[in-house]
Amino acid sequence: MAIHERSLVEPERILRKDRLVIDGVDVSGDWNLIILPRVIDDYDLDFAKEVMNAPDGKTIVNCYQCSYCTASCPVHNYWDERYNPRHFIYLARLGMVDELQKRADVMWRCVSCHKCTHRCPKGVLVEEVLKVILRVMAKKGLIDEYPSKKFDKFFTETVLEYGRIEDGELLFGWIEKQGYKVVKDPILKKPIPFIGETPEWLKQLTVKPIKSMNIGFLVLNAKHMLFHPRTKNWNRFKQVLRKVMQEEGALT
Ligand code: SF4
Ligand code: SF4
Repeated sequence: MAIHERSLVEPERILRKDRLVIDGVDVSGDWNLIILPRVIDDYDLDFAKEVMNAPDGKTIVNCYQCSYCTASCPVHNYWDERYNPRHFIYLARLGMVDELQKRADVMWRCVSCHKCTHRCPKGVLVEEVLKVILRVMAKKGLIDEYPSKKFDKFFTETVLEYGRIEDGELLFGWIEKQGYKVVKDPILKKPIPFIGETPEWLKQLTVKPIKSMNIGFLVLNAKHMLFHPRTKNWNRFKQVLRKVMQEEGALT
């Protein structure tokens, strides 16, 4: 028998027999696949209340688990089926915090396309609700700072450093932070694009546009990536800006 949303069942709870003989009678068939039961008794009902009390989380009560949101979610369909908005909502409503925590590594993957919200027949603001679930989890210390937030910080620091978006520094500095070995220029100690390790996806992503660029544009880009032109008088301005951002709590 097919198991819908099989990713939700731990592999060790799925029992499959090649042959099934009961009381001497061979009853082998599709039903040879059995899901072992489990017992859960540590529901955290305060968790659900906290989500419902948040202005963005209120609509979670409307969900009737039809799964339209999951069926339309590109992250679920094309990236990782463990990312399942319907299931996260289900777990949050029941207060099954341990189960949410098991999925903490994929829960931040929403790409904010709003397909789920658009398709939901019950008017659940799915994306917002999922963000509230993450916020409550973070508040309770159940989830680490998720990578997109780490990227936001790195992005802000890069803009603060140069007074502009430095594509090369941003991309290859971030790649270095992911553990790839990059080569740095001897003066500024900044990563030199495409020298050292480069993830395969980035090579594939860049080859086609680079081929279609004219040589003058390529040279200009390479020069900017290597020498990081700075905004005039930026050093003075950035200190003021950094201080203001710190006071406003925007750099935490
Ligand atoms: S589409 Fe709406 S009602 Fe259906 S499972 Fe998703 S959130 Fe719930
Ligand atoms: S907004 Fe997020 S959860 Fe909703 S469909 Fe898009 S990726 Fe999936």
